[in-house]
Amino acid sequence: MSSREGKGGGANNVNQACAACKHQRKKCSNCPLAPYFPPGHSQQFENVHKLFGVGNLLKTLKSTNKEMWPTVMETIQFQADARRVDPVHGCLSIVRQLKAQIEETSKELEKTNEELSAESMVGETPQIDIKPKNLAQPSATSRKVRKGKSNA
Ligand SMILES: [Zn+2]
Repeated sequence: MSSREGKGGGANNVNQACAACKHQRKKCSNCPLAPYFPPGHSQQFENVHKLFGVGNLLKTLKSTNKEMWPTVMETIQFQADARRVDPVHGCLSIVRQLKAQIEETSKELEKTNEELSAESMVGETPQIDIKPKNLAQPSATSRKVRKGKSNA
């Protein structure tokens, strides 16, 4: 009974398998998922795997341009994470929350603008004109600087 083999499998500095390959118990070489699921990110991978499955994940990557992969993976991971937190609504609850917030803020802005123009009926009221559409593309709003008052 004397089996001495030092430390078992002590090759720590060899490339570790990514979380996806570790889950599938396969060697991680030339792996498209490695950048997005580094070793130690098993929970993140589990979330994605549970919602989409590895096969679909790879199919989705293959159907998109490689330069879009970071974005694809970001959204997929976000969705999977949201689904884990809220198994019923997933990220829809976040979308709804943000939509409600935009609506509320828009109403508040509208009200404020009404109050502003009601308070100072002097004509040149500094109206704030920011709508959700404009927020999405701030460069589209071009300011028109009016010099003085229009006279007849
Ligand atoms: Zn891998």
